[in-house]
Amino acid sequence: MKVVFDERCLEYSFPLHPENPERVEKIKLVLEELGNSFVKPGKTGENSLLKVHEKDFVDKLKTKDYFDPDTPKLDFGYILLSVGCAIKAAKINGFSLSRPPGHHAGKNFLGGFCYLNNIAIALESIRKENERAVILDIDAHHGNGTENIFFGNENVLYISLHQHPLYPGTGKESRKNCINFPLPPYTTGNIYLKILLRAAKIIERFSPKILAISLGFDTYEKDKLSQFLLKENDFEMIGAILNRLTANTEKFFIVLEGGYAEDIEVPAYGFFKTFFR
Ligand SMILES: [Zn+2]
Repeated sequence: MKVVFDERCLEYSFPLHPENPERVEKIKLVLEELGNSFVKPGKTGENSLLKVHEKDFVDKLKTKDYFDPDTPKLDFGYILLSVGCAIKAAKINGFSLSRPPGHHAGKNFLGGFCYLNNIAIALESIRKENERAVILDIDAHHGNGTENIFFGNENVLYISLHQHPLYPGTGKESRKNCINFPLPPYTTGNIYLKILLRAAKIIERFSPKILAISLGFDTYEKDKLSQFLLKENDFEMIGAILNRLTANTEKFFIVLEGGYAEDIEVPAYGFFKTFFR
């Protein structure tokens, strides 16, 4: 698989913040060991951001005119770099290994370590107006930003499996084109995989031209921010299910979201061992 990566995404960190550069470094080692190839992102123009976000909001990010305790002020260049990785991944059917994550960023809001919605911008940079797409979000948190951006868009199906209750508290019900599977804390791999297979059936029936995946490793049993109980072999199953799904889709790409365990390489190894497109 082609992995989009730029070492500049490792340059910044915030003291004691769980979204640290080590997470990405550990996943990178796994991908190297499994023999994946790495490519650099391209430059990102402002037009691609404005397909998804409001201009006032983008301007506020540029001038750091915002305050959110979870989402500290960050140089706009780093925010743009992560978007660029996602766009490149969308163009080459690859995986964007980058930070900051994006699925909590909506049209005009940031939060939960997310500034711009990488996956939404990347999808809209390759999707023609009437093309059907699915965003499958398997981060442990609900992608409230992604839902906010695509809510009511009948060409884009948003499907999320997430812990509830948990930050940001949304995603309790399915509405219109947004299908939510809220699952309680301490959900095991068995239950999770059953639900994922249900989601896979919905995706197959929708028959999208593009499948975009928000990949979080925070469903892992040792994650510090959520309470699911998935083990390494569950991630092997997830990788196999998604490998099959993407094989049947003309275009696909994956974007890294969360994952905060010290040994994040364990779920990453499980997933990428069986996801090898
Ligand atoms: Zn998460």
